[in-house]
Amino acid sequence: MIPFSPPHIDQKIVDEVSKALLSGWITTGPRTKQFENELTEYIGCKKTICLSSATAGLELILRWYGVKAGDEVIVPAYTYCASANVIMHCGAKPVMVDCNAKDFNASVEAIRAAITSKTKVIIPVDISGYPADYDQINALVHEPRIINQFVPETKEQEQLGRILVMADAAHSIGATMNGKQSGNLTDISVFSFHAVKNLTTAEGGAICLNLPEPFNCEKIYNDLNRMSLHGQSKDALAKTQIGNWKYDVIEPGYKCNMTDIQAAIGLVELNRYESNLTRRKEIFKQYVDGFRSKDWAIIPPYKSEGKESSYHLFLLRIEGIKESKRDAIMQQIFEAGVSVNVHFQPLPLLTAYKSQGYIMSDYPEAWSKYENEITLPVYFDLTDDQVKTIISVVINSIEKVTR
Ligand SMILES: *Cc1c(COP(=O)(O)O)cnc(C)c1O
Repeated sequence: MIPFSPPHIDQKIVDEVSKALLSGWITTGPRTKQFENELTEYIGCKKTICLSSATAGLELILRWYGVKAGDEVIVPAYTYCASANVIMHCGAKPVMVDCNAKDFNASVEAIRAAITSKTKVIIPVDISGYPADYDQINALVHEPRIINQFVPETKEQEQLGRILVMADAAHSIGATMNGKQSGNLTDISVFSFHAVKNLTTAEGGAICLNLPEPFNCEKIYNDLNRMSLHGQSKDALAKTQIGNWKYDVIEPGYKCNMTDIQAAIGLVELNRYESNLTRRKEIFKQYVDGFRSKDWAIIPPYKSEGKESSYHLFLLRIEGIKESKRDAIMQQIFEAGVSVNVHFQPLPLLTAYKSQGYIMSDYPEAWSKYENEITLPVYFDLTDDQVKTIISVVINSIEKVTR
């Protein structure tokens, strides 16, 4: 069986994790700080904080910005549940928008139509690693009419004076847009280092801060660190200094810090990330070449409009088929020894959101993307021979089912 997305764990990672384990410091400490600094340098953002997951990062920022019951947050219907769950955690309302026709990301026109005086945050998602339309979204939140509608209710909201744009960049570390790295494309971006993502720490995530003046990203970094550690005024490492045991709890905070064991994996992963991206790009190219001649193949966008993907997922679509045919094709592919997936089941299909009154037919583009989509494996250790096998298995399965 060709697996879908195994982690690339080698002796180098085992060695660095061992060093962390034997160092006498296993929770948040020097390795986490180093990983944050190296990420900041790689991304070119103002400041980075590492956490236990992307989900924790997305929620922490909503909390930091004061999102609460009665507020609205705009999120695509076509995403993983985490993007919207965090809005629910804050008691706010996820306002879902449909996809573009040209790609899997949120439609800017749909976002514009969804904005009300209750909108506090927009969460674009870089589906499969292809950046959302940040030029238009960043411009949109600066339009005088949109700014005039904005009702600030906290110090942070007053300071920004407009809707916050927080990228769910879970898929897109290493992607670029107009020569800038993902993580540096809008106010705030959140990466995931979950086991299946391009760059992993087993579980983990990071917030990249890029807020404009007069925000002080150093100070916000300290605030977020405190929020991620029960609101404690000193972290465990600071408390180890002689005579420095006493601390206060400033607010009832959360608990979602990254450990140095995770950071040890992340440091190795980041160090060799360019070769990981290069390999992913080669695999993408082989898929594109393998399917291009098929009249049923809809190739996912990966390099256009000044954007280049992080090549996280290959979202193949099959022209003219319905959900049941897609499922039958996937069954054939699995039976031939290849693991595939669907990214994503749009949120209105899921019980948690269906039961909130979201209706799939309100998002026709998302449905049309979902019903004929099959995600193919992309990862560093996938060999050229395996890619060839996947291409022929997929072609055979499609031709068998649709014949
Ligand atoms: C994986 C994923 C997340 C959540 O990441 P975690 O690190 O597991 O919390 C959020 N959004 C999207 C689009 C994802 O694919």
